[in-house]
Amino acid sequence: MIDRTLVIVKPDGVYRSLTGKIITSLEDAGLKMIAAKMVSPDADLAGRHYVADEKWLQSVGEKAISSYKEKGVSVTESPREIGMRIRQYLLDYFTSGPVLAMVFEGNEAVFITRKILGPTEPRKADPSTIRGKYSSDSYDLADMAKRAVKNLVHMSEDRDTAKNEIALWFMEKEISSYKRTDEDMMYR
Ligand code: GDP
Ligand code: MG
Repeated sequence: MIDRTLVIVKPDGVYRSLTGKIITSLEDAGLKMIAAKMVSPDADLAGRHYVADEKWLQSVGEKAISSYKEKGVSVTESPREIGMRIRQYLLDYFTSGPVLAMVFEGNEAVFITRKILGPTEPRKADPSTIRGKYSSDSYDLADMAKRAVKNLVHMSEDRDTAKNEIALWFMEKEISSYKRTDEDMMYR
């Protein structure tokens, strides 16, 4: 099923000149870029992008606790408190410089994009993914430095989130409709 997703090259990806490689990795898999702009997000935009959603705060906090436990580190904070702390790191990260926001469209765009860009922690991401190939960052290093994991990109989690995120970053008139020359070859 053809769907759309939001991809953002975070400030570390822009500063490290990885935007071209990231775009190419998605275009090579058949995804079509239908919107793009460089923005330096302010606190308001960053806050609306990383909404303090209870489910997300809880799951990020729980995931952090299990990675601390793996390392034998004891934890006294609740998952929500840790989630709130990580969200603040993220807001600082997102407002620290320019980002490149894009919309990609194609078969299973949300799923394919997450597969190509890789899982959250670069240390564990497969080297064939953008996060695994261009970063080695880990939760513990980031937490020790009191910053977000520098994993180069953001991509929407699922179709519904993608719809909301695209509407937050782009007006309808900023999204283009066109046909890739290889579309018939890929989809028919
Ligand atoms: P994503 O969808 O793979 O980007 O991951 P999440 O939505 O779970 O988290 C959003 C972002 O928060 C990640 O991309 C990281 O930059 C950052 N992050 C997530 N978990 C942690 C953590 O345990 N510690 C720190 N410092 N940052 C984290
Ligand atoms: Mg996410």
